[in-house]
Amino acid sequence: SGRLTIIATPIGNLDDLSPRAGQAIAEAALVLVEDRRHAQRLFQHLGVQPKTLALHEHNERALAPQMAQRIAEGESLALLSDAGMPLISDPGFPLLALLREQQLPVTVIPGPNAAVAALSLSGLPSDRFSFEGFLPAKAGARRARLSILSHEPRTLIFYEAPHRIVATLTDMAELCGAERPAALCRELTKIYEECLRDSLGGIVEHLSRHPDKIRGEMTLVLGGAPERDPEEMEADRWLTPLLEELP
Ligand code: SAM
Repeated sequence: SGRLTIIATPIGNLDDLSPRAGQAIAEAALVLVEDRRHAQRLFQHLGVQPKTLALHEHNERALAPQMAQRIAEGESLALLSDAGMPLISDPGFPLLALLREQQLPVTVIPGPNAAVAALSLSGLPSDRFSFEGFLPAKAGARRARLSILSHEPRTLIFYEAPHRIVATLTDMAELCGAERPAALCRELTKIYEECLRDSLGGIVEHLSRHPDKIRGEMTLVLGGAPERDPEEMEADRWLTPLLEELP
């Protein structure tokens, strides 16, 4: 059989495309792309003109069986998304699930990923972390999710849109405390790359003074909830009900 090659592409700076990624794109019988016009920019940079097929959230479920069949019949396909690693808040999962089920070969050419880039830049603990992708768009659902996550001790990573970032940061400050450390990483690998390392409250205040910074592509890294000492927790278990009894 052929195989699927998952290929990471730049998250801004085209020079971050690896030579191996460029070669795999040039050699694939068919390149599955999220958006044809977007991919065209990359192909122009590489000077290649591969055959493409758009695979996005609206058709990926329907197309997966045909793509798996082409691989089973010996074709080598490539999968890339508009930016970074495919499948990370991007299309590809239905196809990968099917290839797994049919035991068809897959390989990956790893590379840029906004979440991991932001985590490494943030200065927050990187030994354990949880990638949360995009929060729900609706305020109620977003706050419900954040309220659960507010107790998470691992560092949390979110993708967020500029028009929602202030609302999200404000909700986080309310539910996790304005003092919780965070890092707002914008426009990574691009000309206006910036990483604001401050408390949630501090970042909200900074953005209110510099509304010009509420734009571009953003990844938010949130420090985890302070790990609580087991002895302190045990004490709380006894003390809280006792204190509630006091007049
Ligand atoms: N698959 C991509 C990856 O591996 O990073 C992520 C795709 S997701 C649809 C796009 C989101 O990633 C953006 O809305 C933003 O939150 C984040 N992002 C992408 N490029 C970025 C950059 N250059 N700087 C900061 N965040 C970025």
